[in-house]
Amino acid sequence: MPGTLVLATTKNGRLTRNTLELLAGARRLKEKLAEPVAAAILGTEVGAYVPLLFAHGADQVYRAEHPLLEGYQGDAYTLALHQICERAQPTVVLLPGDVMGRELGPRLAYRLQATFVAEFIDFDLDQASGRLQFTRQTYGGKAMAVVRPRVNSVVATAKLRTLEPATQEEGRTGEEIRVDVALEASQLTTRLIEKVQEEATGINLGDAKIVVSGGRGVHGPEGFRVLEELAQVLRGAIGASRAATDAGWVPPSWQIGQTGRNVSPELYLAFGISGATQHVAGISGSKHIVAVNTDPEAPIFKVAQFGIVGDWKAVATTLIERCRELTKS
Ligand SMILES: Cc1cc2nc3c(=O)[nH]c(=O)nc-3n(C[C@H](O)[C@H](O)[C@H](O)COP(=O)(O)OP(=O)(O)OC[C@H]3O[C@@H](n4cnc5c(N)ncnc54)[C@H](O)[C@@H]3O)c2cc1C
Repeated sequence: MPGTLVLATTKNGRLTRNTLELLAGARRLKEKLAEPVAAAILGTEVGAYVPLLFAHGADQVYRAEHPLLEGYQGDAYTLALHQICERAQPTVVLLPGDVMGRELGPRLAYRLQATFVAEFIDFDLDQASGRLQFTRQTYGGKAMAVVRPRVNSVVATAKLRTLEPATQEEGRTGEEIRVDVALEASQLTTRLIEKVQEEATGINLGDAKIVVSGGRGVHGPEGFRVLEELAQVLRGAIGASRAATDAGWVPPSWQIGQTGRNVSPELYLAFGISGATQHVAGISGSKHIVAVNTDPEAPIFKVAQFGIVGDWKAVATTLIERCRELTKS
């Protein structure tokens, strides 16, 4: 039966937040299209995730297990997902707007002769045609584009952290469909040689309620040590602009923005960041933005609710001291 198919991914024995966001999107689509929600789970021993997918809104779960699906490999996932789609015949396939979705999306869309919509932030039904339309940021977040696919079949990636994750409904069940995917090692054109796990320090950027972020105006890696201290006292995570990551002051994984991470904290503190559109594109989901910049004309002040014109270090060190005093008393 046609409907929306979500690619489910897992990490450390749990469904990823991306999966829960996609399921939430699929549930919204179900209300609009009156079509069921399916999830596809790929791997080697993935049976334990099936009830969780039902509990988070999937009506059907396509479960594909194969030794070549252990760990993500682009060719294997494309072939397996294509076989699942041929069986499920979904109207819409939802993939996460991350490295995996960016690789799989166009490849799958080509195979399905579907429209590919990259990194949508919202969707709705076009009143006139009754067809789905997707909203996505364009020109680095300066403008919004509304995409109306002309064919019925759509493969879309959802920009991370723009949909609220689906909540769990105890006791909810559905239909499990086992798919015997045909995969041969000779079909895989690349192989994973090494996986290097970046050392996780502090709070994960994506989950943080407070993010302390620095840019070129922090003037070097030493400045980031001060910001890390501030992040620690605020129990927040640390991020950076691309200028800071490109300079090698901090790891690339700290980069926030259009080509980095999206964050949606309660509080985003920007130190020495000018507020280029590509940076702002990654922080627009923040509830409150506080900017500290010596230039009163810096564009970051246009998106910040609170602005301090001044030297970042003076403000950051004062904040550290005050927070320490407050937490002592
Ligand atoms: C295709 C593309 C994708 C991109 N993707 C990203 C992305 O994902 N994320 C991203 O961040 N950028 C991205 N960029 C780069 C982006 O355009 C900007 O160049 C970058 O964000 C600038 O970083 P910045 O604000 O740290 O540096 P700058 O623009 O150089 O700003 C530094 C700021 O620090 C202030 N300052 C200087 N000294 C002090 C001080 N002592 N105290 C306080 N303030 C001070 C200055 O007034 C200035 O406003 C992308 C660019 C392109 C073309």
